[in-house]
Amino acid sequence: MDREKWYARTPEEVLEFWQTNFTDGLSSSEVKTRLDKFGFNELAEKEKTVWWKRFLAQFQDFMVLVLLGATLISAFLGEYADAITILIIVLMNAILGFVQEYRAEQSLAALKKLASPTARVVRNGMVQQIPARELVPGDILVLESGDKLAADGRLIDVFNMEAEEAALTGESLPVRKIADRNFNEDAPLGDRRNMVYAGTSIVRGRGRAVVCASGMATEVGHIAGMIQASTEEATPLEKRLEHLGKLLVWGCLAICLVVVITGVAKGESVFLMCMAGISLAVAAIPEGLPAIVTVALALGVQRMIKQQAIVRKLPAVETLGCTTVICSDKTGTLTQNAMTVRQIFADGNSYDVSGAGYDIKGNILLNQQEIDITKDKALEQCLVGGALCNNSVLKQNNVTITGVWRKKTENGWSIEGDPTEGAIIVAAAKASIWQVDLEKKQKRIAEIPFESERRRMSVIYRDSNNNNILYSKGAPDTILELCRYYQTNAGPASLTSEYIAKINTISERMTGQALRVLAVAYRRLTPAQTQNPDESLEKDLVFAGLIGMIDPPREEAKASIIRCREAGIKTVMITGDHKNTAIAIAQELNIFKEGQQKALTGKDLDSLSEAELDAIVNNVTVYARVSPAHKLRIVRALKHQGHIVAMTGDGVNDAPAIKEADIGVAMGLTGTDVTKEASAMILADDNFATIVAAVEEGRGIYENIRKFIRYLLSCNIGEVLTMFLASLLGMPMPLLPVQILWVNLVTDGLPAMALGVDPNDPSIMRRPPRHPGESVFSRGLTRKIVGRGIQIGISTLLVFSVVYYFQNDLALARTAAFATLVYCQMFHVFDCRSETNTIFELKFSTNKYLLAAVTFSTIMQLSVMYIPFLCSIFSTVPLSLSDWLLVLTVSGWTLLLNGFKHIFKRRPARRAALPQNR
Ligand code: ATP
Repeated sequence: MDREKWYARTPEEVLEFWQTNFTDGLSSSEVKTRLDKFGFNELAEKEKTVWWKRFLAQFQDFMVLVLLGATLISAFLGEYADAITILIIVLMNAILGFVQEYRAEQSLAALKKLASPTARVVRNGMVQQIPARELVPGDILVLESGDKLAADGRLIDVFNMEAEEAALTGESLPVRKIADRNFNEDAPLGDRRNMVYAGTSIVRGRGRAVVCASGMATEVGHIAGMIQASTEEATPLEKRLEHLGKLLVWGCLAICLVVVITGVAKGESVFLMCMAGISLAVAAIPEGLPAIVTVALALGVQRMIKQQAIVRKLPAVETLGCTTVICSDKTGTLTQNAMTVRQIFADGNSYDVSGAGYDIKGNILLNQQEIDITKDKALEQCLVGGALCNNSVLKQNNVTITGVWRKKTENGWSIEGDPTEGAIIVAAAKASIWQVDLEKKQKRIAEIPFESERRRMSVIYRDSNNNNILYSKGAPDTILELCRYYQTNAGPASLTSEYIAKINTISERMTGQALRVLAVAYRRLTPAQTQNPDESLEKDLVFAGLIGMIDPPREEAKASIIRCREAGIKTVMITGDHKNTAIAIAQELNIFKEGQQKALTGKDLDSLSEAELDAIVNNVTVYARVSPAHKLRIVRALKHQGHIVAMTGDGVNDAPAIKEADIGVAMGLTGTDVTKEASAMILADDNFATIVAAVEEGRGIYENIRKFIRYLLSCNIGEVLTMFLASLLGMPMPLLPVQILWVNLVTDGLPAMALGVDPNDPSIMRRPPRHPGESVFSRGLTRKIVGRGIQIGISTLLVFSVVYYFQNDLALARTAAFATLVYCQMFHVFDCRSETNTIFELKFSTNKYLLAAVTFSTIMQLSVMYIPFLCSIFSTVPLSLSDWLLVLTVSGWTLLLNGFKHIFKRRPARRAALPQNR
């Protein structure tokens, strides 16, 4: 038999072949040996471009090539010093560009790693979450709905499993999976229903599989052309700036041409003027703008990671800042997902449960009295059903409870699995009903898994006497529909409409107290009925009881919701839970106020047409009992109203809504692989506050991009204008080619990058969201850029003319203009930190990088003016004290202006405050 035809073999044969064990999996040492033998579970990546090739790519820019050509000519003509200086400057610029790109790439690579897939396997007898790249043949994969397969495997155990294999077979309908049948060796890929393949996803059910192929040995690895090609798409802003850059190139070239022609017409040397024109073009064309934008985006993304938000798609950073609505799941995101059972209802009795968290310390009380579980049979049946219809495990000090750890007083209790289910195991333990003991007496033979749409799950257990019992638990309304009897302490009785009304009243009361309520039911089955276990068995059930659990809101969510309101962002709760529970929690969180906002259920949504929903969607802040399909409708309706929607999700069926949202947010802890893959951002801690922190970062990053665009463009306009006006006015050339290139180097590089990491303005979350269509130059930025550009140009020319005409020394005048141009920009960079506040309102020390960059640039500038060897290269001469006074006053007068503005800005504020104080 061919080794790769695993689908033609029985599970036992495959386990035997791979020398592995269904319950214990592989041992750590065996995994190590297999990793050495088979390598990591990775697909071969596209070869990376070597660093020196990427460095050389920095010189591919047309204008830089022209400059290098011209430099070569000047070297031939004997201008060695000039040629070498230009070469060094070009080289330094290239290094800067290379470092920027490298940093951006590193951050993106780090991001990819963070979002890299994981897999659940059984190793050393325990279920573990491991990085998918460490999977080896023989590993036992534990699969659940929403998992994306990272290796090929032969199924050995399945419960209602369906997989979506379109990536491999092109078939978009999910394929039903089975474990206990072999297929012919010539069965095509799509028919091998006992196999799961890397690149496909589980969309329903659960199961286990033994890994048979990893890495390039998988089916996906065999398909030629599927080799990963990592193309990073430019963000809309990057694309727009690239377009702008192209426009600016032509504008700059035209002006440079005018400078060259007028200079030559005035009798300057053609060669000198050409060099000046080319240098000016190199300096003025903001070719590095898109790269710096990428750096700013990537660095911002790094900051977001520290706040637990992992951005998967860079364009999301821009959109985040525009978010107007955050639609958030309730359980675990707005609440703590730390469930504690508080009340139980069985056979007409309402029991209270004491204790907190997953600690089993606590009691079940009836009328303040501790109960005797042997007498409260209905309660016992309810807890037994809840503990068995359950996939969570109770642990103490991280050790699974096996019957030894039974001291109720000890702490360190935790649960592994779904908190809702964990809470039930804990409640049962408080009544001395131990899940582990129950499972020793009966064995699970089938499961109809929980799904958000069904709002229930069922299991079938068989005991040693061959009795078969089906246990169901789920949302009370769903379970009650399936019940014909109810459990009394004396045994099952017919379910009357009075008792149903009573159950509903109790359920309403519990949900009104913000409790999440589940119903438990059971039925006995004949052996024949267990042959094909499916949903059709979920009928004629015996209602055992209601379990109400509390899940307190997250403290930090309250503060974040207030921040959202101040920032013009609406918070909407979307939950599968009961409407009353949802409203009670929403009220605590200040999302919902009776009479002011609306709450809709999934049923309400079904009865509304698209237009009707569009009409009211702005006023709805709570959606309860919704299924994932409803989420899609909600996103669409909000988008119709012009909202920019962030939507959270965890289950596999949330993926379409997450994709449709402007910002799809997946849960890092509880989210499935499929949801994560569809999302733009992953919350590592599942916390609502993290979304808000990410929105704030998104706004900050965008503002920082505006800051350095403002800085770079106004400086470049200043440089071009200096040369252009001088040529128009018939003045001598105010700056030499090397000086122009130098200005570009010391001002454009580090200070601009430092602006990219400026801390967020504290008022950033007190403004309304930005419109996504808004131009990066809106809100008066163009006026600010052009105005400051003109001012820098005129200031430089002013200093040049004053020194030149009063002292009649061209070298001195050029040095003074050279210094003025640099220092104008050094002062200006501080102005660019805020569009609303003056320099004096912002603390200088909050951006240490900027202080360091400006200090460094200042020292660099002083060196070319005072170190004799550099003076001769840059044709500079030392400035006198009065020259410096002129240079600094002209370059720094905006600082004075700012000071005045600051004083005047504060006065009216004080006056305005007076009446309120009275
Ligand atoms: P969110 O608020 O994050 O949407 P949710 O937990 O409220 O999450 P679902 O997980 O879809 O929403 O649950 C919907 C309903 O299904 C719950 O209100 C509960 O009645 C029921 N339910 C939840 N978990 C389970 C479970 N493990 N077994 C059976 N029923 C469950």
